[in-house]
Amino acid sequence: MKLISACLLGIKCSWDGTDKNSDENAMKLLSNEVLIPVCPEQLGGLNTPRPPQEIQGGNGEGVLDGKCRVKNINGDDVTEEFLKGAKQTLRIARLFKVSQFIGKSRSPSCGCGEIYDGSFSSKRIAGDGVTAALLKGNGIEVISEEDLRE
Ligand code: SF4
Repeated sequence: MKLISACLLGIKCSWDGTDKNSDENAMKLLSNEVLIPVCPEQLGGLNTPRPPQEIQGGNGEGVLDGKCRVKNINGDDVTEEFLKGAKQTLRIARLFKVSQFIGKSRSPSCGCGEIYDGSFSSKRIAGDGVTAALLKGNGIEVISEEDLRE
């Protein structure tokens, strides 16, 4: 059993009200899996659509450690919603005993290995999103949909 970012399965939960289901190759690779879709940002109570959000001055590990915050492009602090969504996702992972999370690449919640740098300019830094970091820290393997192409 695996979790996957819901937007990768065609659920229109992304910040702009769209999905991220454009990668047909990834979908083919996923076709035989049992997958549970989750959207940590919605689970944390954020609306859809919503303003774009990025981690400021760090990555998901830093947010979990209280060293940095998540803000949207208007400057509103959404850290608490991100933390709530990450914890809810971990709860689902434990309920279903999942072994792996397939996260949307570069998302401040679901990204794995690389995320946007907080400048809302598409620049990237190393690190995980908040949910990805929490799942990793609790022994769940985290990959991105881009890893499935390799
Ligand atoms: S929080 Fe994750 S599942 Fe939800 S829209 Fe963002 S990348 Fe997709």
